[in-house]
Formats: sequence, structure tokens, C-alpha cells
Amino acid sequence: MPHYTDIAIIGGGLAGSIAAAMLGRAGIAAILVDPHAVYPPDFRIEKISGAEQIARFRRTGVADKALYRATLAAENWIARFGYVLDRAPAHQYGILYDALIAAVREEIPDHVQRIVAKAVTITPSEDRQSVALSTGETISARLVVLANGLNVGLRHQLGITRTITSPAHSISVGFDLEPVGRPAFPFPAMTYFQERAGARVPYITLFPIGDRMRANLFAYRAVDDPWLRAIRRNPAETLDATLPGLKRITGDYAVSGEVKVRPADLVVNSGTRIPGVVLVGDAFCTTCPVTGTGSDKVFTDVERLCNVPIPRWLATDGMSEAKIAAFYDDPVKRACDAWSLDKAWRFREVSVGTGPYWLAQRWARFAVSLGRGVRHRMAGAPVAATARSPDERSEIRGLTHSS
Ligand SMILES: Cc1cc2nc3c(=O)[nH]c(=O)nc-3n(C[C@H](O)[C@H](O)[C@H](O)COP(=O)(O)OP(=O)(O)OC[C@H]3O[C@@H](n4cnc5c(N)ncnc54)[C@H](O)[C@@H]3O)c2cc1C
Repeated sequence: MPHYTDIAIIGGGLAGSIAAAMLGRAGIAAILVDPHAVYPPDFRIEKISGAEQIARFRRTGVADKALYRATLAAENWIARFGYVLDRAPAHQYGILYDALIAAVREEIPDHVQRIVAKAVTITPSEDRQSVALSTGETISARLVVLANGLNVGLRHQLGITRTITSPAHSISVGFDLEPVGRPAFPFPAMTYFQERAGARVPYITLFPIGDRMRANLFAYRAVDDPWLRAIRRNPAETLDATLPGLKRITGDYAVSGEVKVRPADLVVNSGTRIPGVVLVGDAFCTTCPVTGTGSDKVFTDVERLCNVPIPRWLATDGMSEAKIAAFYDDPVKRACDAWSLDKAWRFREVSVGTGPYWLAQRWARFAVSLGRGVRHRMAGAPVAATARSPDERSEIRGLTHSS
């Protein structure tokens, strides 16, 4: 006997777990399928940052527990060339990805059934969808929400074509940084920007998670670049050689724990408009971790899908392609996807572009940070208590996810 439900959510990462919590709270019958009862440690999002991103998370209605468990840094130093340019008020919530998913999953009401399995086939139709699971069970659902991240098997099976628009667009490196010869670093959190474009390392962000100082370092380099082997094998020395001015602010440091290195492609899918199945989060398209907008996309996709079209779709018979198209055509979703993609390309160009135009762009951004820092100092008020205008906030978000 199949499990009957309205919505089968395939994948219990960030997107699928939020969807399960939102639909469950709305009283919509749903089943969440994921191979992991507990999400395993994974190097992905490690902070939710910036007023806008936090607002998007809050709009899903399931942010509170995750933000409560995260470590808040209310001030972020902006630095370059060994100098602190600004001590900016910030909204940075540091949390490891598995802890983030665990907190979101706690918001899923008990009546949402969870099945620990892999979906192996999806047979879509204009009416009910059939999902076969690795356990031999099947689900019959009115709608499948495909939230299985980077896993391509099910998409291929559905005839969805995946195109890598920028292979290894960026490389993310994650590790813990410890002060040497002093008990703590002098900053609550810090974004340290590149000293020269030739290093192809746009910035490192340092932020607390519990009593650890996490480091996310980003690079625009080929996957076979010897620098990647060096950062894995000799992380502290390689970091020092790449960003020599950093130590002027941090003092001596050591890298502890595992160094995680993850290349990220930019991927788009075509042929997604099929009856009965809707793609969200990374399953729909990926973005670049350097700009930290993957979570904006997940929050926006799921919040729009669960609040707007799903209740309407369920109110009438069938699950035609035309119904599904309404989600992909949602102007809020489209704007978020376009903004995220544009940032992925622009930030890379600004960081590594050669020629007078890009050089001028980099100095202009340096001047903006410097000017803001001067204003904060002249205001004389404790920086963390200084109000920031929406324009200033979006300017920072325009630079990176440093706030
Ligand atoms: C190194 C790195 C750093 C990043 N840093 C940031 C950042 O700082 N800020 C930011 O906003 N974004 C960041 N991102 C992007 C962000 O992590 C992703 O956009 C986001 O996690 C996508 O969530 P998701 O739910 O779509 O996919 P996932 O979290 O990958 O979830 C997919 C789920 O599907 C399950 N699954 C897979 N196949 C099946 C199947 N057949 N059946 C059932 N379940 C299945 C998996 O087990 C998993 O639980 C980063 C990404 C990377 C790679």
C-alpha cells in the first residue's frame, strides 16, 4: 500500500526541512523523505548574515530556534592591507550546517511523516505523482517538491537537463583559526579583503561559532591549482603568504581541525516545467558561496512556494504544468535568482578583473569602507549601537556577505 499524501518532499536539507515545517504548520498533509535521520556534518552555509537575509529566513516562520542556537556577532571589522577600515555593526549568526538543519527540523510538526530513505524514481502525471523509495515503499502524492540539492539522478530521470554555466566558479575553504600567544582575537568577527587581485582570494571571513573562530576563505582558482594543495597541507603558512597583512590584526594564529575545501559550479537546469513536480533550492539552480546568497534563494523559494501557490494548487483538481509554471514565474523568486546570479558574476569580476576599470572599482570599494569607518569613528558612538540606513546595509550586501 502506498503512503498517500498531498505533498511529498524529497530531500531534507535546508530547503526540504523548511518546506516540511511550513506545510506541516499550515495543516497541509506532507511526507519528508531523506536518507539521513540526522543531517550529517557538511561544509555548507556556516552563517546567516545581513538584515535582509535574516528577514527572508524569518518570513519562513521557522527561523527562531536556529537563530537562537547560533552565535551572534553584532560587530564585524572590515579590514584590508593590514588595517581595520571599519568596525561595522553587523547581524551575523554563525551556525554549522548540520546544526542549522537540526534546528529547522525541530520545527516540523509530528504529523508530518518522515521517511528515512532515498527516492529512487518519480513518475509524474497531471494528477497524482508516484515516488518509489529505496526501502521498497512508494508514496502517492498530489505534488512532489524536489529539494534534493546537488544530486542529479532524479532530475535526469525526469528529463531535466543540467548545464554547468561556470565550472569551479569559486572554491570555498573552511577551517578553525586559533590565536597563538593570546587568549582571544581582538575582533568579534572580521572580513579581511584581498591585498592584490593576483592572489585570486577575494576575502576571508572570520566569525564565532560557540567558542571557536571559524574561517571561510574563498578563492577563484582552478581545481588543479597547487595553491589548493598548499592550503590543505600547510594552511597557516599558505594563508599568511596569501594575505600577509592579516596577522597585523589577528596576531599569530594557528589553523586547527580539518581544512575543508569545496569547489562550487554554477548550474542551471532546463526542462523543469513538468506536471506534478516543483524544484526548490540548489535542485533548481546553484549560486556562488562567495556571495552567500544560496540561503537567500532557499528561503525565498520555499517561503513563496508554501505561502502562495501550494494552497491555491491544492484547492483545485490536478497538478498541471501550467500550475507549476506559476511558481517559476513568481516575480519575487525570479528577482532573487537573478540578483544572486548577477552577484556571483560581478563579485568575481570585481575581485580578479584586470585593467583600469576593475582596478578603479576595487579602489572605489576600498574608499567606501574607509569612508564609512571614518564616519563611524567621528560619530563617536559605540559602533555596535550605531543605526545603519537601509542604503548602507544594501551597499555592504552588494559587496559580499560580510555584514
Ligand atoms: C562550501 C559551501 C559554502 C556555502 N556557503 C554559503 C554561505 O555562506 N551562505 C549561503 O547563503 N549559502 C552558502 N552555500 C550555499 C548553500 O549551502 C546551499 O545553497 C543550500 O545549502 C542548499 O540547500 P538545499 O536544501 O537546496 O540542498 P541540500 O542542503 O544539499 O539538501 C539536499 C538534501 O537532499 C537529500 N537527498 C539527495 N538525494 C536524495 C534522494 N534521492 N532522496 C531523498 N533525499 C535526497 C540530501 O540527503 C540532502 O539532505 C554554500 C555552499 C557550499 C557548497
